[in-house]
This record gives sequence, structure tokens and C-alpha cells, in this order.
Amino acid sequence: MTGLRTILAPGRAARPDSFSARAAEPKGPENCPFCEGREDRTPPELYATRPEGGGPETGGWTTRVVPNLYPALGQPSPDARDNPVRGSAAPAAGAGSFASAGDPLLATKRAGEPDLFSSRPAEGTHEVLINSPEHLTAMAELSDEGFAAAIATWRERMRAHPDASCLQLIVNEGGGAGASLEHTHAQLYALPFVPAAVARERERVGAYGERTAGGGLLSDVLVEEVRRRERLVAIDDEAALVCPWASRSPFELRVIPRRESARFEGDEGGAAMIRTAMRALARLFDGPPELNLWIRTAPRGAEQFHWHVDIAPRLTIKAGFELGTGVDINVYPPEQAASDLRECL
Ligand SMILES: [Zn+2]
Repeated sequence: MTGLRTILAPGRAARPDSFSARAAEPKGPENCPFCEGREDRTPPELYATRPEGGGPETGGWTTRVVPNLYPALGQPSPDARDNPVRGSAAPAAGAGSFASAGDPLLATKRAGEPDLFSSRPAEGTHEVLINSPEHLTAMAELSDEGFAAAIATWRERMRAHPDASCLQLIVNEGGGAGASLEHTHAQLYALPFVPAAVARERERVGAYGERTAGGGLLSDVLVEEVRRRERLVAIDDEAALVCPWASRSPFELRVIPRRESARFEGDEGGAAMIRTAMRALARLFDGPPELNLWIRTAPRGAEQFHWHVDIAPRLTIKAGFELGTGVDINVYPPEQAASDLRECL
């Protein structure tokens, strides 16, 4: 989907039980601000589902959404709107004693130009979507109904930001995967720009459509994965679960809706298959592994796209080669990972 390469190096791996998959010991519900009954410990709620009714900031909810207390994005101050380019003031002095007359380091006039040091306010919203009133530390532990309710809330909140250039919903499970609070939750970023990875996928989907007179890139991948079966983990009426071709890391999983649909938030299916994926990983590793999940949905304005959900257990560490080249080395081929996971359904 990305056109990026991965090096598969199975010789570098032993069996999956050699991966350190387990999260640290849970801290427990004491002092957890996301547990039911501690509604006063979060910023005022933006949204909640209360099947039995009840007012905001009370118990009885199944899912609850609040602003992130430490947002990565925010509403700009009026000052920032007037001066969108910041941090680019030209240094008055030159390069000091290291520079001689005519040294290019002294030619600082261009340093004040925004094309060299462009910046803009990080406008947008950053929400926390609490998946459960109970203190569960992994989505794999949610009931069927609880899982469906969580995903329905994800979609509801994504639909609440129609003006965002791009919506990024993610889940971090485990401290090693970036979670600072263990109580199961997702985070939604409503972005004022389209990240390069999303733009690239959009371009590739569009180019494939043109080259094949309307073909769907991920639809065609899915047809072939179902035919070949070697990377297919599971399939139901709504979605398929595969270990993607050229997976970047061991046991990476992708939930693909069977019918092409541009936007996760505009669609309905797939919750059961996301749950299947989380549960299969938990069984394979004798407990939920630390992992990241992200939803790839069409950015604003994109018509041809095919949403999918990617899940990446944090089993290995990206090192110098991966960071230096952008090429991942995966020690566990997706065909082997799919075979292992099929045993855990
Ligand atoms: Zn909790």
C-alpha cells in the first residue's frame, strides 16, 4: 500500500516465544482517572454513551470521550493567527569568529524567509476515547458488546470533525508502546494537514485506479490474499484479517473491509474482526502484547480510498539501519505469523 520496502530476515529470529511481548505489571485501578466514578478527574466530557440515561460527568457510561489533558494539538491564540510563521526571526549576528568576509554563513538574509524555516500553529483537536468504564488494560479483554460500543464511539467522534484535513485514531497498549495510562483508551487527532504516509497511500491508490481503469488497490490485494490464503488469518461477512505482504514488523496485522469504502467513520463493519485480531494476539503471546493500532481512513477530499486498520505488536526495536534508511528489517515473515495466528482463533 505504501510502496516502501521491507527486508525479511527470518534467520535473525528464533521462535515467537523469544519475543518479549508482555507489558509491565498493571498498576491497577487506584488513582486511575479513566475509571467510572472518577469523572471529576478528567477535563469536562465531550461525549459519552449512557444507555440508562444520566447527566454529564456522572457514572453509568459505557464509553466516554474527554479532551486530552496534554494535547498535541490545540486551538491557536489570536496572536498566532496574526503571525502564522514563527521561530524564523533572522539572527542579527553572523557566524562569529569562524566566518570571514564573504563567508556564506554571513549571508543571513535568507534565514528569515519562511521557505527555509517554515512553521505554522499546530491547530486541531486531540481527544481521549475511554473504551470501558471498567479498569481493563487491553482491548482484548473487552466483552463483545463492550468492543462494539468502543468502536461505535470511535466512529462517532471521527464524524464530529468534518473539517479536519485528516483524522488519525490510534490505540497504544503498554508502556513500551507509548501508553502513559493503562486503562484501555483510544486517541483521536483531528489534523490540519495530511501526513505524508497518508498522502502517499492516497496517491498510490489513485495511480493504481488510473492504471487499471478503476481498479481498487486494496480490493485487488484482498482478492489475491483470499485466493492464496498464506497470509490470510480470518475472514467474516464484513472484513478480512491478513498479515500484510512485506510486513514491517513481526505479527503486524491488517483488518480490511471486504467492500471498498473510503472512510472508516462512514462505514459500519469491521469491529468483530478487529476484536478477533486483538484476541488472537493475546492467545498467541499468553496475554495481550504491547501494541499500537491505527486507522487509515481517507483524508478530506479523497474519494477513491479503502480504509483499513493496522495493528503492530511491539516485539522488536527499530535500530540504526531502520532509522537511517526507512527500510525495516522484519525477522518473522508474515506467512509464518499468519500460520501461527490461525492456530489461535
Ligand atoms: Zn481505570
